[in-house]
Amino acid sequence: MKELVLPLSDEASTVALGAALAKACDRASVIYLYGDLGAGKTTFSRGFLQALGHQGNVKSPTYTLVEPYALQPLAVYHFDLYRLADPEELEFMGIRDYFAQDAICLVEWPQQGTGVLPEPDLELHLSYQEQGREAKIQAVSAYGSQLLDRIHGPQE
Ligand code: ADP
Ligand code: MG
Repeated sequence: MKELVLPLSDEASTVALGAALAKACDRASVIYLYGDLGAGKTTFSRGFLQALGHQGNVKSPTYTLVEPYALQPLAVYHFDLYRLADPEELEFMGIRDYFAQDAICLVEWPQQGTGVLPEPDLELHLSYQEQGREAKIQAVSAYGSQLLDRIHGPQE
């Protein structure tokens, strides 16, 4: 499957990547966000949410696990599974209902939900690179591959 590697020299580039992907999503989408603490997963999510009209701050829903955003054209659910003790907890919170909707799911720490989370369309891997970050985006589904095509232009 397709993959795209992008240098993100500063915070604004991470925000811009989030915005570009938000504009590309036109149907139910699942994006996994990987990277160490401070790598920029929430910064990316803020860029994504603000591009769809969310005003104000975005913080990782570390204790509540998920934060819903009623946005157009699609609702966005922002997950942070860092503190999830057991993937079974996701069953109790009705995880399938979130993913069954016509919505966008952004998932920080998806490795905590292995076996219960549905497959993503895209995986974003953020890593530290000197003062900045590097983004590696991998398409997992055919739709994810289309998303990569759509953002490739504006990033060049
Ligand atoms: P995570 O959710 O992965 O733990 P956050 O987005 O909360 O990370 O924090 C990332 C930190 O790194 C923030 O302080 C943000 O300003 C900074 N940051 C984000 N993207 C970049 C970048 N491309 N280069 C340098 N700093 C960045
Ligand atoms: Mg975070």
